[in-house]
Amino acid sequence: MPGNIRLIIGPMFSQKTTCLTGYIHRYRSIGRTVLVVNHASDVRYGRDALCTHDGTSVPCRMRRDLRGLRGEPEYTDVSTIFIEEGQFFDDLAAFCRDAAGVDGKEVIVAALVATFDRRMFPSVAELIPYADHIEHRTALCCVCRDGTPAPFTKRIAAIEGCLVGGSESYAAVCGPHHNAPHRAINGAVGHLNDP
Ligand SMILES: [Zn+2]
Repeated sequence: MPGNIRLIIGPMFSQKTTCLTGYIHRYRSIGRTVLVVNHASDVRYGRDALCTHDGTSVPCRMRRDLRGLRGEPEYTDVSTIFIEEGQFFDDLAAFCRDAAGVDGKEVIVAALVATFDRRMFPSVAELIPYADHIEHRTALCCVCRDGTPAPFTKRIAAIEGCLVGGSESYAAVCGPHHNAPHRAINGAVGHLNDP
């Protein structure tokens, strides 16, 4: 099978890691050996393992960059490479391009679609022209709470019912709630149209 690149993008809380581990389990179920790489800055659940919120754990390599990986035996022996937190790897696009285009690997990348203030991550933007498949996931808006899709990450003060992560507080929200002022988001939903 020729190499190809699958990019899974979405905001925080859009189950990107669960999606990635789902692919990993599917490939393992047919006997494929895989290499899983996570960025060394992701220490949410301890090192050397990729964990989902449902507690599933997959061993992985923690790296600060992808340069040099192509020369390692662990890389040579596998046909599929999984990359978590793709937005943090400066050399993401160059690595994926060569892994798929030169080495014939299948590369599956999970990455944040944008920053909380809707700026592109350069490494993700550079990868898009090389991606064979792009899977855009959404969460559900934690302010609407009626199933409205949430394609965006917003930095907020913690509000009841919203998942928060990291040293700052973040939530997945719909477009109108991303544009709404913080005080409206943190207040009653009925006051969101206030100036
Ligand atoms: Zn909303």
